[in-house]
Amino acid sequence: MRNYGTLARLYIDAPLVENACVDLTQAQVHFLGTVMRKSEGESVRVFNGGDGEYLANISHLSKRKATLEVSERLREPKACPDIWLLFAPLKKARNNFIIEKATELGVAKFLPILTERTTSKIRMDKLEAHIIEAAEQTERLDIPNFAAPEKLETLLANWDETRTLIFADEEGDAQTAAEILSRVKTPCAILIGPEGGFTAKERAYLRTQTYVVPMSLGPRILRADTAALATLSLWQALSGDW
Ligand code: SAM
Repeated sequence: MRNYGTLARLYIDAPLVENACVDLTQAQVHFLGTVMRKSEGESVRVFNGGDGEYLANISHLSKRKATLEVSERLREPKACPDIWLLFAPLKKARNNFIIEKATELGVAKFLPILTERTTSKIRMDKLEAHIIEAAEQTERLDIPNFAAPEKLETLLANWDETRTLIFADEEGDAQTAAEILSRVKTPCAILIGPEGGFTAKERAYLRTQTYVVPMSLGPRILRADTAALATLSLWQALSGDW
């Protein structure tokens, strides 16, 4: 089979099936025509979490509109492991960084949490474009979900206790991160605190929950984005799809 790996990839939020015609968004028209300088008749790849990845032909491309004709399926749908990331919003650039890198690292869902010391804000609808761009680049076949920011206590009050919550806690636990993460399987989630850390009250509550697994990330204090990506990487290597 010809290697299509060099073809541009576009996430299409519409059913993908052979011979379907899909119209692109304005941002995608700009990306194909102006950024990638594609022309009618050239090929691209299109994908989404439900249908997998297809080859598509650019049947129409103008400044304001583009239409693709979907042809053969290249890859079956395949979801990333069911691991979520709960993180306190950080400063804008760091939010973008954590979203992009965690998407590349295969996170399945982002849940921004509001804790007593959370000071920054985040608008996930604004970050959706970052999520999609990172998923296109990293050759993912699905797009991570995301939720609106929610108070940690509310989220935990409704938590599905079959989902293990890995609590990144500097005080840690008797076991090493490797010992802990090699045992935590999906469905699971990672909880990272804000720049100011969790309060004693928040930590005490978390440690009383049976689905919570406290875990140290070693002797140094990591920035929240470093802690999130380090935990996700370690978990992927020990229990995920690496
Ligand atoms: N508590 C930190 C301090 O004393 O400066 C501030 C919080 S740290 C910047 C942000 C979050 O990253 C923490 O709430 C924790 O979830 C995680 N984290 C950072 N370093 C860690 C470590 N060595 N072990 C476990 N979690 C860590």
